[in-house]
Amino acid sequence: MRITIARTAGFCWGVRRTVNKVFETSAAATTPVATLGPVIHNPQTIEKFEGQGVKVYQQVEDVPEGTTLIIRTHGAVVPQQALAKDRGLPVIDGTCPYVKFPQVMAQRLSRDGYHLIIVGDEKHAEIKGVASYAEGPYTILKTGEPIPDLPGVKKVAVISQTTNDATHFKAVVAEAAVRFREVRAINTICYDTAERQTEVRELARSVQVLIVVGGRMSANTRHLAEIGAEILPPDRVHHVERAEELEAAWFEGFEEIGLSAGASTPDDVIESVAAQIDTFAAGGAERRYHQPSFTPTHANR
Ligand code: SF4
Repeated sequence: MRITIARTAGFCWGVRRTVNKVFETSAAATTPVATLGPVIHNPQTIEKFEGQGVKVYQQVEDVPEGTTLIIRTHGAVVPQQALAKDRGLPVIDGTCPYVKFPQVMAQRLSRDGYHLIIVGDEKHAEIKGVASYAEGPYTILKTGEPIPDLPGVKKVAVISQTTNDATHFKAVVAEAAVRFREVRAINTICYDTAERQTEVRELARSVQVLIVVGGRMSANTRHLAEIGAEILPPDRVHHVERAEELEAAWFEGFEEIGLSAGASTPDDVIESVAAQIDTFAAGGAERRYHQPSFTPTHANR
């Protein structure tokens, strides 16, 4: 049996940066440290943070005085950041710079009089944060939705959730181009996501079974498994959070196993899953890294 591990599997650049900030801050802190919402959608990492005494609060209102508050990778809504400032809480901004970009653009473009069209999931923390930077009207468009009637609107600016597929963003920009007098399209898609998705597509074509590791709450991890299931029979694609979930029967009769992981999956969890697959192969499995057809911007290996 051979396990081929995606070079892009695991923490993206932005998540690694914020996770390191949390560990460094809590290791050096003499006062309590907390995060505003879970930093990432990965239960094992959250457990490690808790082990270092880092608490998670959903609202600034609940954070005790004197606590150092870390803003998570997805960012935070403007009123919550303002409240933290008013309360004098020490704040460390862990917002990924690729998420900061659409926040800044939302503010700037709405100040310039553009009606914002934000392509993304209105329930996602990143989109809530980006929308809160708008200082004028905006519309949040779910994937695949047409632009609604916007009476009187002449100029629009289109921005996207960082993890969106470029196809959806392009479709909205194309529709806007023929519906409004002036259109600004700001490409706020993070290439890390696109590259991870492209690689899993390539990997799925070269293996018989695909294992995708990551939190069940992680949208980007679920999407990797969905892409895999478009290429392989769905019963040969398995999304797991932990090594203990793997079943020997999934691998019986197969030699080529692919392994990828979402942007919030730590290296040690990926390693434990690979080690568990090893135990299902007589004499252990051979390991190699996948060679994608492109050079990833932030490869992990
Ligand atoms: S996927 Fe991209 S935008 Fe999201 S945290 Fe990672 S680097 Fe930042």
